[in-house]
Formats: sequence, structure tokens, C-alpha cells
Amino acid sequence: MNTQATPKKRIALFGSTGSIGTQALDVIRCNPDRFEASILTAQHNDELLVQQAIEFNPHTVVIGDANRYQKVKDALAGKSIQVLAGEKALEEAASHDGYDMMLAAIVGYAGLRPTLCAIENGKAIGLANKETLVVAGDIVMQKAFQKRVPILPVDSEHSAIFQCLVGETRNPIEKIILTASGGPFLGKKPNYLVNVKREHALQHPNWSMGAKISIDSATLMNKGLEMIEAKWLFNLRPEQIQVVVHPQSIIHSMVQFQDGSIKAQMGLPDMKLPIQYAMAFPQRIVNDFPRYDFKKVSTLSFEEPDLRTFRNLALAIEALQKGGNLPCVLNAANEIAVFAFLRNRINFLDITNVIEKTMANVAFIEQPTLQQYFDSDGEARSFAADLIQL
Ligand code: NAD
Ligand code: MG
Repeated sequence: MNTQATPKKRIALFGSTGSIGTQALDVIRCNPDRFEASILTAQHNDELLVQQAIEFNPHTVVIGDANRYQKVKDALAGKSIQVLAGEKALEEAASHDGYDMMLAAIVGYAGLRPTLCAIENGKAIGLANKETLVVAGDIVMQKAFQKRVPILPVDSEHSAIFQCLVGETRNPIEKIILTASGGPFLGKKPNYLVNVKREHALQHPNWSMGAKISIDSATLMNKGLEMIEAKWLFNLRPEQIQVVVHPQSIIHSMVQFQDGSIKAQMGLPDMKLPIQYAMAFPQRIVNDFPRYDFKKVSTLSFEEPDLRTFRNLALAIEALQKGGNLPCVLNAANEIAVFAFLRNRINFLDITNVIEKTMANVAFIEQPTLQQYFDSDGEARSFAADLIQL
């Protein structure tokens, strides 16, 4: 195959030191003829950022925590790498011309502004950061449409749906079926959950991920955020989005068309697959990732999610249905509550109480402006933090 004629795709990897970020670099490392890392960003982990910069030689790196700027600058002295620091620098880097696709792999609300800058800058987005669409999905999608910027999902469920839709542009979706592993506490009840500790909640049965999304998977909030993400990505009504618990995580999600036919995308759970699909789309790249063998996992099972026990999912469905700034408020309260749980400040079930109270207290706005989303996020965060006395 002659790949020399095609220029390399220049990837701006926002959140390069995280779980998605490091796996995206694995993909780039294995495909040096196709991809190069042009921008790398990290919040705190300056050592890994420097190590990555030395290996991949990007033109720009950003360290979010400005206290670590000098350390990074000194370590990269003598290289022609621009070093930036601080929150605003993420937007500056996203507005840079020297890349083709942003891989949005920052965790949480912090990913929103840089992603908006990249869209404004006309760059394609590989979207791992689901919170961007949960907070301001209408504005993000509208801006992407205006700028003719593709948003390629990296989240495995949304990648699955996206893959099922290839070749189906003229065929409306009847519904999508988002699969959920059920997380480490599948089948457990509140009397068990009240006592679970952070270490236990961080142990996901099928995926190894960053701390925040691991807790979201344990509470099922992750699936709620993904329902909202799916609404915006695929332009769906809430009633077209169904969640099914599928503990083996082999079917990554499904689309049901108007004739009742259902397409599924399957494979072993490995985030490198949706990452490389988004980066190389519309091509599929040869790789040596382990393959799914029907003889080894011969049972695929499905069940209803337990909304009474995992009330975060019920709250997210409420936010999905009511819309407006409610998903933004839900997300902010969840970020604060998960942060507190990870520091052993509240128990597992309190996460839901914090979100529920915050949703009831921040004023509802039906059609928020971007500034109103920013304000709702701030208001929800301070309300939730006060509740927990953070
Ligand atoms: P992670 O915690 O492992 O990594 C987060 C990255 O973001 C790190 O590079 C960190 O330095 C950076 N970061 C953290 N806070 C920041 C801030 N305030 N400002 C700027 N940068 C900041 O997270 P992850 O598991 O890689 O997840 C990243 C995103 O991808 C999340 O939105 C998550 O929901 C989504 N996602 C992850 C997985 C997965 O398997 N890990 C799967 C699907 C979707
Ligand atoms: Mg997912």
C-alpha cells in the first residue's frame, strides 16, 4: 500500500496524559506514516507530558497547571517546542492553525471551551469528552454544522452507532440501543452501595479508564451522560434512546431502523479501536489488537437497568427529557460530587443526593445562551460544593 502520497494527519491531543490520551498516542506510535502528534496538553502530570513531547516532538505543549510551567520549559529547552501554560493557553493552542484534528480527551467541563475554539477554527473533532455535549450540545452541534466541522465520536457506544450508520444516510433511525456494562456494582442494592469505598468503585470489570469516568460507570451516570451525548450527535428525541445492560461489553451499541432491522457493532472492549476509527475515518486500519472469539465468550446477555437503585441514571433521563440548562446543571453537580467521593468526603449514595438537590435549586432556563451555560455550570458547582461543605 502506498501511503506516502497522503499527508500525515496532524493530531492535537488535548488531555494526552489521560487514559484516552495515552491510548491515542499508542495508535499514533503504531501508525507513524498516517499520524503525527502536533499538540499535546496535560493538566498536572508534567513528567509524562515532557516524556511524550520528547518522543513525539509536537510543535506546542500546554501544561494546565501554571506552577509547573518552568519545569516543563526547562526539560524541553533546546527543542523547538513552544511551551504554554494555564487554562487560557488551551484555547490559544486550539486556535492554532498547525493541526488537522483535535482529539478532545480532556475530562469534564474543562474540555468545552478548547473544543469550541477548535470548531471555530474549522478543525475536525474526535470527541471523547462527552461532557462537552452534555453541557452545551445544541450550541456545539450548531457551530460544527455552520463551520462544516465533523464531530467523530470516540466514546465506544457512539462510535458503534456511528459505524452502524455508515451507508445509511437516507434511512431514518427508529431508535438506538445503548449498551451498558452495568459497572462493578451490577445487581447490588442500596444497603450494599452505601458502604462501598472509592477503591472498590474504581475497579471496572471490563474497561480501564480515568477516575472520573470509572465512578460515573459505577453509578450509571456515565450511561445517562451518554444518552444526552447521543441525542446531540445523532439528532434524536429522548424516546428514541434506550439503555440495555449487557455485562460482557461485546456489543458496543445498536441501531434499529424503520424496518425493524437492528445493526450492532461488536468486538472486544478496547478503546484503541474507537480512537483509531475516529482518527482514520473513513478508513479502517490494520492492527494486531486481540480479536473476539465466539467460542470463548459464548453467552451475550441483556437486562433492564435498575433505575431505582442507580438513581443517577434516572436523574440524567429527567435532564435529557427536560433539556435546557438541566443537563449542564446535572453535569456540574456530578463533577463536584464525584470529586468529593474520590476524596472520601461523601459516600457513594450521597453522589445522587447532591445532584438531585442541585437540579432542584438552580433556576431552569429553556434555551440558554453559551454564557448562560457557563453561568449555570458555575452556579451548580457552588451550590453542590456548599452542600458538601467542600
Ligand atoms: P483521565 O482522567 O484519564 O485523563 C484526563 C486528561 O485530561 C488528562 O490528560 C488530564 O491532564 C487532563 N485534564 C484533567 N483536568 C483538566 C483540566 N481541568 N484542564 C485541562 N486538562 C485537564 O480521563 P479519561 O478516562 O482519559 O477520559 C477523558 C474523556 O474521555 C472523559 O470525558 C471521558 O468521559 C471520555 N471517555 C473516556 C473513556 C475511557 O476509556 N477512559 C471512554 C469513553 C469516553
Ligand atoms: Mg462509553
